[in-house]
Amino acid sequence: MNKKERIQFITETLNRLYPETRIPLDHEDPFTLLIAVLMSAQSTDVSVNKVTPALFKLANTPIKMSKLSSEKILSVIKTVGLAPGKARNIQRLSQILVEAHDGKVPNSFEELENLPGVGHKTASVVMSQAFGVPAFPVDTHIHRLMHRWKLSNGKTVVQTEADGKRLFPETLWNTLHLQIIFFGREYCKARGHEETLCPICSKI
Ligand code: SF4
Repeated sequence: MNKKERIQFITETLNRLYPETRIPLDHEDPFTLLIAVLMSAQSTDVSVNKVTPALFKLANTPIKMSKLSSEKILSVIKTVGLAPGKARNIQRLSQILVEAHDGKVPNSFEELENLPGVGHKTASVVMSQAFGVPAFPVDTHIHRLMHRWKLSNGKTVVQTEADGKRLFPETLWNTLHLQIIFFGREYCKARGHEETLCPICSKI
């Protein structure tokens, strides 16, 4: 298969395997999504989903969250990795949303990336999943799979993101990045994969 055929085959296979692309982080709206995505850095979605019900019961809006101390937030999210820094960022970020953004999550990459604890990947997930703006957030699965499928030789996620955006139509980005993550989690572990059984590599 040439690159164009590979892209077509990969897209069709992912659509067949993952017709549903609900983001696996439980949330109610852009703010709770932002908090959940921020907490998912270096942590599993499952571990984040375990703590968000209690956290959002205490505070599910920027104004309510800004009134909690970071110690209180930490006491609720402490089982998530890097919890102390995340608790401080959640508290500060909520204050900034109240003071500078009318208590709302801004829908621009720049404003999101200026918030504490929010990098380009987190901003991209929020822009795509909360606001429907095309984005291609690259996590470790996407970075690895784009290499393995010979669609990128990017050394950094920045380069891999640029390659993904160039190769796949913009209309697919928001579902495709989730489908690649689902595929990576199910089939394509960092170690120990079986090429002859793989629904994609065995065919391309
Ligand atoms: S064989 Fe499958 S599991 Fe292995 S790298 Fe390729 S896509 Fe991933």
